[in-house]
Amino acid sequence: MFNPFSNLRGLASIILILFSFTANANSCVTLLYHRFSDTAPKSTSISPALFEQHLQYLKENNFKVLKLDTMLTLLDSNRLPDKCVVLTADDAYQSIADNAYPLLEKYLMPMSVFVATEPVDKKYPAMMSWQQMRKIKGNIIQFYNHGTDHRHLLNTGKNEIKAQIQHAQKRLDKELAECTNWFSCFLYGKYTPDLIFAYPYGESNSVIMQQVKNLGYTAFGQQSGVVSIDSNRQNLPRFPMAAHYAKFSGFKTKVNTLPMPVKVENTHPIVTQNPPTLKLDFLKPLNKHQKANFNCFVSGGVNMVWQGNQHVAITAKKHLTHRRSKYNCTMPSGQKDRYYWHSIQWINPKVKE
Ligand SMILES: [Zn+2]
Repeated sequence: MFNPFSNLRGLASIILILFSFTANANSCVTLLYHRFSDTAPKSTSISPALFEQHLQYLKENNFKVLKLDTMLTLLDSNRLPDKCVVLTADDAYQSIADNAYPLLEKYLMPMSVFVATEPVDKKYPAMMSWQQMRKIKGNIIQFYNHGTDHRHLLNTGKNEIKAQIQHAQKRLDKELAECTNWFSCFLYGKYTPDLIFAYPYGESNSVIMQQVKNLGYTAFGQQSGVVSIDSNRQNLPRFPMAAHYAKFSGFKTKVNTLPMPVKVENTHPIVTQNPPTLKLDFLKPLNKHQKANFNCFVSGGVNMVWQGNQHVAITAKKHLTHRRSKYNCTMPSGQKDRYYWHSIQWINPKVKE
């Protein structure tokens, strides 16, 4: 029988296993879809055929596709499995019921949908009806809060932000909630919802994050990256999956990513100085190989200024001209085909959509 302690190579493999375990522990890749259609605008869509390829890959490669609320519970108790993935979709488009739901049922994978309630109340034809949502709600599809009318919260007053979130929650609870457990129904006579919110356009700032926290919500943005124990619970990252971001090769890379080993600060994502600078502090000094292969991708290129082997300041070469711009940084993790990933979505509220 192979005795791992019998030689140095065995010892090395034990160390490697321990190292990999630490590196994998407690993180989860969350994906963000919108529409599932061959005909809707490409910028927010994935074709149903490509979506099925995503699900097939997850199944064949033994990813653990968790319900969103399960993932958040395991995250807080430090028990997330390796190869953890969560599927989400924003806006409650009709194509979820028509094209995504049948595939999710086929592969038995759950997806959480963030609903802006006013377009549903106004019966916009592109959106599912409450009736349709009641029909598909269950172990495969869950619904959460995306605000009332999908406005830019950065251009909205504090009281109105509160009203946006609370009104949407009231509508969701009235239309979709049910008693999930007889004891809580008996005791309270009503269902207590999980308070999970997704910022419209992924836009927030530190004041809004604090307000959302005070209202009791966990919240998601739209910056790419991996949810980890250190993530800000009011700005959790998701990898957007539409247009060229949804391509199969990129999808494979993203579901295999790990959180960049940096101290995560609650970076205020608003552009005050243009171009803005992202400062990263690594948990440990990088070795030569890691430092040489640490890369950041920004439209127009990037300047990186290192201070020793543990601190780097990243600044775009050109002014950011869009309302939302991303800095995406990657580094090889040491595990085959797995990269560390960190991203920030900068927002310039002065630029109109
Ligand atoms: Zn949205």
